[in-house]
Amino acid sequence: MTALPSQIRARIDYRLAKHTRIHLLPTDSQGNLWIKREDELSAGISGSKLRKYSSLVPFLKDSKVQTVGIIGGPNSNNLVGLIQILRENSIKPLAFIREAADQTVRGNSLFLNMLLSDDEKRIISRDKWDSVLEIAKRETERVASDCHIIEEGAFGMEALWGAMTLAESLLENEGDNSILFEKIYIDSGTGLSAIGLILGLELIDDKRANDREIIITLIAGEESEFLEKLADLRTKLIAENGLTKKSALKLRFLKPVLSPKFGSVNKSLFDCCISIARDEGILMDPTYSVKHYETVRIDLRSSPSKEKALFIFNGSPLGILGFQERLDINP
Ligand SMILES: *Cc1c(COP(=O)(O)O)cnc(C)c1O
Repeated sequence: MTALPSQIRARIDYRLAKHTRIHLLPTDSQGNLWIKREDELSAGISGSKLRKYSSLVPFLKDSKVQTVGIIGGPNSNNLVGLIQILRENSIKPLAFIREAADQTVRGNSLFLNMLLSDDEKRIISRDKWDSVLEIAKRETERVASDCHIIEEGAFGMEALWGAMTLAESLLENEGDNSILFEKIYIDSGTGLSAIGLILGLELIDDKRANDREIIITLIAGEESEFLEKLADLRTKLIAENGLTKKSALKLRFLKPVLSPKFGSVNKSLFDCCISIARDEGILMDPTYSVKHYETVRIDLRSSPSKEKALFIFNGSPLGILGFQERLDINP
């Protein structure tokens, strides 16, 4: 069985959570490292986000909410993506955006300005950011009675169902190419996309759990937080859907080898961004995917093997636009 349980599938809009292809990375002469093109899910929304929205949006429509409070930083891929999909479905966004350290309008902060009118956003000062969830609840309830709050990064059970479709698509790739990926590399911010992959594989491919290792690049957050969220969502998912617990997958965690602090950038990172474009023909966003890519490459180099490995590219090249003047193309 390579499909999620039917009660979960019923909550997902599969026109959003489509199958994506894999291909070999051209620089890998051994033919062992493949990439999954989640970036191809959408031109304007990063791929992993669209999978989350594929169940979040049906949930919002079923709940008939008309206004949704959304939370994120001024460079958030999630805010940019969510607003597009909410508009498409005639749901009104009210965005709570962290005050920017750098006021220059570019990349995602430009897209947020394009997508939101002034009365649809509240800038939250950095010293109040710790209480943003309460502020968002209070303010959204004040402006609309039929409202709902979506947490930062769209973290939550309603988005997890859609995130699990990555596991279905990956198993379809394996079947089509007669491959088993022994190493699967995925990047993590809130962790929900990686947790979706892990729980999806545990549910529908538990027989091969011992043959695989899932390796998580922690772009944001710590291993202990990730494991807590994973355990919590696993318990809830099993209880709410009347499922039985299957064998857990082997996990390993990596810290980014380049500019490890979340949101930080440096020259090596931009040099790497350009090399990836020239060597692999892929435009990758520096914040997540370039850091993930270089971390994976180093991990594979430090323990060379014949095992098949898959790099999950969750990204969207739009993330590059925040850094145009830093990308010195003639170093
Ligand atoms: C949002 C995002 C992530 C992180 O997803 P989480 O589900 O929050 O862990 C990873 N890569 C890219 C490109 C993203 O936009």
